Amino acid sequence: MIIGHIDKNEKKIKFQLDLNCTKCGKKVPGGLQASENYYGSQLFKIEIDNFKKNYLCGICRDKKRTKNKKSSL
Ligand SMILES: [Zn+2]
Repeated sequence: MIIGHIDKNEKKIKFQLDLNCTKCGKKVPGGLQASENYYGSQLFKIEIDNFKKNYLCGICRDKKRTKNKKSSL
């Protein structure tokens, strides 16, 4: 997964994040990427914070998607 935006010629930094699903609390190891310039910036920290706050594991994401589909009918 990529955090923020990476330009074609920008250097990528790969990092691991300990993610917990905000719904079921399941721990999911997250392999993420960000551009070298973005990584470590204040904006990056905020983005990571938001990402963690909204993170759902695959199962909960699927459930949410199914629910949304049903409610839109
Ligand atoms: Zn979950």
